Amino acid sequence: MAAEVWDQLARAVLTDLDESHLLRHRSLITPINATHVLFEGREYVNFASNNYLGLTHHPQVIAATERALRRFGAGSAASPLITGYCPPHAAAEQHVARWKQAAAAVLLPSGYQANHAAVQTFAALAVKSGRRARFLLDKLCHASLIDAVRGSAMPFRIFPHNHLPKLERLLADAKTAELQVVVTESIFSMDGDAADLVGLAKLKMTHPFALLLDEAHATGVYGPAGSGLAAEMGLRELVDVAVITCSKALGCGGGIVCGSHAFCNSLVNLARAYIYSTHLPPAMAAAADAAITVMENEPLPRQRLNQIVRHVRSELAKGRWQVIAGSSPIVPLVVGSETAAFAAAQSLLSRGLLTFPIRPPTVPRGTSRLRITLSSGHTDDEIERLICSLRDAHKHA
Ligand code: PMP
Repeated sequence: MAAEVWDQLARAVLTDLDESHLLRHRSLITPINATHVLFEGREYVNFASNNYLGLTHHPQVIAATERALRRFGAGSAASPLITGYCPPHAAAEQHVARWKQAAAAVLLPSGYQANHAAVQTFAALAVKSGRRARFLLDKLCHASLIDAVRGSAMPFRIFPHNHLPKLERLLADAKTAELQVVVTESIFSMDGDAADLVGLAKLKMTHPFALLLDEAHATGVYGPAGSGLAAEMGLRELVDVAVITCSKALGCGGGIVCGSHAFCNSLVNLARAYIYSTHLPPAMAAAADAAITVMENEPLPRQRLNQIVRHVRSELAKGRWQVIAGSSPIVPLVVGSETAAFAAAQSLLSRGLLTFPIRPPTVPRGTSRLRITLSSGHTDDEIERLICSLRDAHKHA
């Protein structure tokens, strides 16, 4: 039977992954609050989530979600061009546009889809207008951007991570492409470092391109009211299209594309990732809206987060861990092999601290790492426990 063949293939591939220490399992995690979880019957401090401001459990976010759930139901039950577009979606989009100082914003069911929709819009606009265009993509871009670009009708080139001289050569050597779209992230998800936005702004003066910037991990962390790294650096104008996810600092779910009215209207008309998917549940739109209000009204958690980040990074710099430099709450400790990353995570686990080893194919082979993420909700005591445990873990490694 055909199914039997596929089962044999599956078993062989899984055995292969297991033997190379690359087999993945889902861990069953029960959140207790924004920074603590139950895992295999024991309580841990969570240093592995992207809940940078602890907004998953903020009373105002929860109350807004509950109100919308009762008023609008559990799901949106149709795609946005049928009957899935509800008042909470419209309200959240307007709020996001004001907060990001963008002309318009479109909400989608996830950040993954938002990146696909943004890329599909560029590609569809180029095809429909008969213009030759191409994407230029940073090598460390998130899988959602890579998949979207690969699956689009537009050619693309990849430039080495943050290598602006190479990007400049590509921009200058457009050959047949009349239009170029640079695709990058303001904070890279696995390295926690930043794109060189100042360098990109300089490049843009001499080589015209459109910039698609994924602000997933900068949102809530940088800029006025957490509106992102471009805003923090006074470079909002540099960004033509910004993508954010509501699944990280905003503590809920969904993705958002911000851009001009014409771009956002084109997305609604042309992007298959938007058109052919049931819309984000209205209660999630209300949650995102409330999370942004909290970020606008409460600057202290963001300040505390940045203070924790500086402290942890400077303490780890004194030790022997290979920490990828940066200023973000994603602190990757590169250990090399998959087994070393696994052992480091186990050592923290034995001290009540939850982190996950990040292994290929998520990161290049030989750069397996412990990806520690910090949250404003971590107490001083928990931060000291993390630092001491890492010191000890290294001594015994
Ligand atoms: N972009 C980046 C940089 C990400 O890290 C992620 C999530 N891992 C996404 C996009 C996708 O967002 P979502 O989880 O909301 O689909």
